[in-house]
Amino acid sequence: MERIIYQMLFSILVLVFSTDLAGQMPDDQIQGPHTQYEGPYYIKVFVNYIQTPTDPWADNTDLSSRTAGILERLNAEYNQHEIYFIGLTAPCDASHQKITASNYAVSNLHTKALDIFDRGNSGGASGYAFRVPNTYCEVAGAYGSLPASHSEVVVHEVGHCLGLSHTFNWFRP
Ligand SMILES: [Zn+2]
Repeated sequence: MERIIYQMLFSILVLVFSTDLAGQMPDDQIQGPHTQYEGPYYIKVFVNYIQTPTDPWADNTDLSSRTAGILERLNAEYNQHEIYFIGLTAPCDASHQKITASNYAVSNLHTKALDIFDRGNSGGASGYAFRVPNTYCEVAGAYGSLPASHSEVVVHEVGHCLGLSHTFNWFRP
C-alpha cells in the first residue's frame, strides 16, 4: 500500500474534483526526478462504518451493498486513470466493519488497505483526508440524493489519500 501511494505521488494524474470541500494541503514535498510509472495501480479498500448509540444508522443499513457502492463509485472515476479499487473479501478478510462509538482510533486502521470511514447520511456532506497523502479518509452526510460515500466527496478525499492536493487538481467548472 505504501509503495503504491508513493508511486502515485510520482505520477502525473489529471483528475476531476469538486471544490466545495474544506481543503487539505500536502504535508510532504514532492521532488523529482522520478521514474514514470503509468499503472495500473491496485488499491485495497476497507470500509469502517461509524455510528453512535443515539444514531445507530449502520444497524439499519445493508452495509455489504453500501460497501459495494463505494467501490463502484471509486472505480467509475479512477479506472480511466488505471487505478483500481478492490474490496477485501471473505474468507480471508472482511470488507467492512461497524464501529459504535463517537470516535475511532488508530487501532481501527488497516496496514495493508486504504481505510474509508463512513459516518452515515445525516447532515450535509463533509470529508477529510487529514493529510496528503494518507492511508485513510472520512466522509459523512448526504450529497444531494447520495450518501457522501457514494458521491464525488469520497472520490475527492481518496484523491487526497493518493497524494493529490487541490493545487494540482483540475476543477470541475
Ligand atoms: Zn480537498
